[in-house]
Amino acid sequence: MITARQFLVAAFTAVVLSTSVWAQGAGTDFSKIDITAEKIAPNLYMLSGSAGTDPGHQDAAGGRIGVLAGPDGIFMVDAQYGQLTDKVLAAIRQISPAPIRFMANTHVHIDHTGGNANFAKMGVTIFAREDLREELKHPPALANGTPAPARDPASLPVVTYGMGAPVKFHMNGEVVDLIPVRAAHTGGDTMIRFENANAIMIGDFYRNYGYPYIDTNNGGSLKGALEALDATTELAGPDTRLIPGHGTIIHRTDIVPYRDMILAVQAKVQQMISQAKTLQEVLAAHVTAPYDAKVPGGLLPAGAGTSADRFVAMVYSELKAGK
Ligand SMILES: [Zn+2]
Repeated sequence: MITARQFLVAAFTAVVLSTSVWAQGAGTDFSKIDITAEKIAPNLYMLSGSAGTDPGHQDAAGGRIGVLAGPDGIFMVDAQYGQLTDKVLAAIRQISPAPIRFMANTHVHIDHTGGNANFAKMGVTIFAREDLREELKHPPALANGTPAPARDPASLPVVTYGMGAPVKFHMNGEVVDLIPVRAAHTGGDTMIRFENANAIMIGDFYRNYGYPYIDTNNGGSLKGALEALDATTELAGPDTRLIPGHGTIIHRTDIVPYRDMILAVQAKVQQMISQAKTLQEVLAAHVTAPYDAKVPGGLLPAGAGTSADRFVAMVYSELKAGK
């Protein structure tokens, strides 16, 4: 007879091995999701899905969208789940009737790129890292080993860039910088800075709902995520609003305890690895216990997108591999 915990460990290990089903919108009733807009600056808005409707993102369904609007047309950040495109479009039309010209993707996950093909077919030109395009073209296999379903070719970014100087957009009185990030949440992350609005959309390498998620199957890395946090702290001024793909808007001081938590968990896991502990033993030690009360969503069922166990398993596998 196996214990409930052994069962959960086995179940989540299977999930960890592949792109998480929780990130795919599985079990989501899209008809229950509304899209609401939040004004960040006179011409910059953030769009979010309803809370409590997406099992993988209980705080707000799917990934946050950015909309820079004005006479030069609309620039978007990310595309949400494809099932929500009509609602996203309606929310944008509440803001502006201008043509949607460009979109930038923060990273490959379907809660951020699922609507890409729909917007591309409306004539929107999509920008992203070359790595993101490759990740979209070659998704990791499912947990049972079968190949992931191919994405609509229209979802692929048309304009791609590497790790060089930021790509700049000059629109609507704003300067937008697409800032490449070395392998962090995924292998193709980009931060999007709005210079005049003094806001940066940082994607998912920081989150304050649930524990960090580093998608090593899509090229993410623990080291890179820590570097990305440092880079964000340097890039941001004291009043810069940092806007994650999920959770609440933060400032650079909020990154400090988050980074410290990752470093503390990393140190504890490293210590247990040096004592030849197995993954099961490390998970059973609950090394995140000092933080669990401060991390909403951190104790979701094992295997869930942002659970403590998945985070610790990721740290374990990265350290074990000497990364
Ligand atoms: Zn996301």
